[in-house]
Amino acid sequence: MAVKCTFCGEGVSGSRGLLNHYKKCQKKAERTQRSVSHALQTHHVELAAAATRALEEIASQAVNDPPVSELPRSPSPLPPRPSGRPGRRIRLPARYRDEPPEPPQPLPPPPPTIVTEPDPDPAPNSCAPPSPPTWIKTEPNSFGVYTVALCMGET
Ligand SMILES: [Zn+2]
Repeated sequence: MAVKCTFCGEGVSGSRGLLNHYKKCQKKAERTQRSVSHALQTHHVELAAAATRALEEIASQAVNDPPVSELPRSPSPLPPRPSGRPGRRIRLPARYRDEPPEPPQPLPPPPPTIVTEPDPDPAPNSCAPPSPPTWIKTEPNSFGVYTVALCMGET
């Protein structure tokens, strides 16, 4: 049964003869070589296309889906640190914050005292009864702390 080489068209006898012909057929060798190189080329093109797609995918993800750490939750004008982390100001949690108490309000100024020389001889004006002691209370501050002082009456 005569068959023809599909590459060069040479007639050979039988499939066995065709196989023998293939081993020496230049056309088949050329075609095979070409198809192999073509396959390699196509493969390279596909690889390049896949790489390009992957790069584009990464780029679009970086634009549309930023990492969680860079969400504009609290935009900070400070420049990022060398480590890449945003240069936010470090603050203690609210439970660690300690507000110092306000200083107590100063006592009201005492009434002006008239320094007088002690008079061994009771003067007539000393017969006046001494004023009773008075309690002085300052206004409470924001913590409700106030000061109570006993102000002795003048004699
Ligand atoms: Zn041939």
